[in-house]
Amino acid sequence: MADSHTLIKKVAQKLSSARNAVALTGAGISVESGIPPFRGKGGVWERFDPMEYASIDAFKKNPAKVWQVLLKDLNQLIGNAKPNDAHKGLAILEKMGILKTVITQNVDGLHQKAGNTDVIEFHGNFAINYCMDCGRRMDTVSIDLSQMPPRCDCGGIFRPDCVFFGEMIPPDSLLRSQQAASQCDFMLVIGTSAVVQPAAHMPVLAHNSGAVIVEINPESTPLTGYISHHILLGQAGTLMNQLIDEVNQIMR
Ligand code: NAD
Ligand code: ZN
Repeated sequence: MADSHTLIKKVAQKLSSARNAVALTGAGISVESGIPPFRGKGGVWERFDPMEYASIDAFKKNPAKVWQVLLKDLNQLIGNAKPNDAHKGLAILEKMGILKTVITQNVDGLHQKAGNTDVIEFHGNFAINYCMDCGRRMDTVSIDLSQMPPRCDCGGIFRPDCVFFGEMIPPDSLLRSQQAASQCDFMLVIGTSAVVQPAAHMPVLAHNSGAVIVEINPESTPLTGYISHHILLGQAGTLMNQLIDEVNQIMR
């Protein structure tokens, strides 16, 4: 315990002298908000492999099934979710002038809800759907989900404005992320298993440009010990609170 406290103090010291920090977040940061990740342990999606359903091929082959099995659950979970202490901590770091940008793989919109103003959504956002035939855009909350798959007035099928496996990252998000990663002086990598590319490459870019890389995750990842300088092992919300406390004491 004493050890982890010493490490948090050390990380807080480095973080408080950063002026261009960037956070890279994955599904793990939203676990404490009630949204389980795809990989690893977690409730509702243990019965099947969401990775199989989250591919564009699966969606095109059987949109009703993907909506019914994956997207309906996700919609409900995201609809009920509120930012947790980890999201709020990143908003505090932005207000302190330390954190400039959040690059997220999540589609839940919780970083914006917490108050971060520069959020790059690598995999889009679940809050918007568009018709695959006419392109009409609709808020997910306004879509009639009583029929599967949900359909537009034109008869086309609605799909969320998210990046499915097998689809390209929007070029603009990719470019902006690469720029943010190569220019930052500190990168916090929170709740990502760092195996989905090209998101997992962002810490490598930051590392190669000389930034300090710190992971927050209950488990080590392929970055640990190679790309990241430190890992704080545990839940994002709890650790972020401890980190912010230390940063506050240093900045006071
Ligand atoms: P992932 O690759 O980011 O893996 C989740 C990581 O979170 C794991 O490394 C796990 O150890 C860690 N983790 C678990 N609980 C944690 C906690 N309390 N605090 C900190 N870390 C914790 O994500 P994935 O689940 O494999 O999903 C793949 C992709 O699917 C994501 O990149 C995302 O686009 C999408 N997805 C999004 C959401 C969301 O928007 N909330 C949820 C599930 C999946
Ligand atoms: Zn349409």
